[in-house]
Amino acid sequence: GSGPSREVIRILEGVGFEAVFVGGAVRDHVLQREATDIDIATSAEPLEVKELFPITVDLGTEHGTVLVLKDGEPIEVTTFRTEGTYSDHRRPDSVQFVKSLKEDLIRRDFTMNALAMTRDGKLIDLFDGVEDMNRQLIRAVGNASDRFKEDALRMIRAIRFTSVLGYDIEDATCKAITDNAQQIRLVSVERLKAEMDKLFSGVHPEKAIRYLHESGLATHLPLFPDDKEKLGRLAPFSTSSEGWACMMIAGDFPASSMANSYKLSNAEKSFLTSIHDAFENRLKHSFSADDYYKYDLDVLVTTEKIFRSLCLSEQTLTAEQIKKNKLALPIHSKSDLHVSGSDLIKWMNIKGGKWIGEWIGKIEHAVLHGQCENDPRKIKEWFLHEFNREK
Ligand code: ATP
Ligand code: MG
Repeated sequence: GSGPSREVIRILEGVGFEAVFVGGAVRDHVLQREATDIDIATSAEPLEVKELFPITVDLGTEHGTVLVLKDGEPIEVTTFRTEGTYSDHRRPDSVQFVKSLKEDLIRRDFTMNALAMTRDGKLIDLFDGVEDMNRQLIRAVGNASDRFKEDALRMIRAIRFTSVLGYDIEDATCKAITDNAQQIRLVSVERLKAEMDKLFSGVHPEKAIRYLHESGLATHLPLFPDDKEKLGRLAPFSTSSEGWACMMIAGDFPASSMANSYKLSNAEKSFLTSIHDAFENRLKHSFSADDYYKYDLDVLVTTEKIFRSLCLSEQTLTAEQIKKNKLALPIHSKSDLHVSGSDLIKWMNIKGGKWIGEWIGKIEHAVLHGQCENDPRKIKEWFLHEFNREK
């Protein structure tokens, strides 16, 4: 644990409570990976936690979780729970502590996520999580099928960890996913989406995609490519958005269906819409000046990557070449033009109106395609010539 999080445990222990690191942060510590978030489990109740730390945020006191901000670092502090209620052992003896901690850990999803660690680094491993990690296995705590019936999201979590860690899913756990696959339909799309984001961001998404197909989970997701190979061929992904884009192309889905089915953000939706258009163009020909102008660099790079992987074409551009080509454009947006609507009004001495926008568009096109230099005098010359020609 980080300095601030160890300090949180020290403060809790200092007034007689028990507190340990739990969950993903302990797993990541064992793997010497940087933890994304730090969780502490404690015998202190939420109100007692809030009294001890000046800056806290309530994350639902009914779940027993208080977010403590220690030296700017957010740390989730959760009270040990027994069935339905908080532990009533305020100052537990060590037997009670082990009992409460066990009840906390046994509710967790996988053995590697059910580890705890004391402030001085002593591991508490009640379900042989370290052994499973050494064997690179994801194993449910207890009866896998029961655990997936309790919360079907755990099936997707198991699979996203195959992408993040490159592990396999232990046989009985894997079989339980196959047996309970259709229950994934009960899970809210927000929770599903968050796990899919992590799946796409992992280093072995092709492995996770294979598990999704082989377990039958894929067929029960809101939307997933039927093709069992295509999406895997596009992996790995540089961002989760790229993962969503590849899923769209692999399944030949409209951007709007992808966005609606998974409640993607507006930014993700517009990224997918652009990729969809750019890919159609790219199938016809290499990127044109219009494509370089219209699409952001990340759109172009992802589109080329998809094209390269799916169309097995030799003639593809590297990200560097794409960047260079885009930078070489005479202008990158209308605001780069060295004239504006008021210049046109001044030159023509006619009132502003629809014609301004139309002619700015024509100038933009001429400059972009090198028919006219981006220089006020050259543009004026070109414009007067073209304007009179059209009359
Ligand atoms: P990450 O590194 O991506 O944060 P994580 O394992 O820490 O992975 P979190 O969602 O942060 O995932 O959850 C923290 C811990 O809470 C887990 O390690 C696990 O012990 C427990 N947990 C999370 N979700 C579930 C669930 N659906 N069922 C049971 N336990 C869960
Ligand atoms: Mg976490």
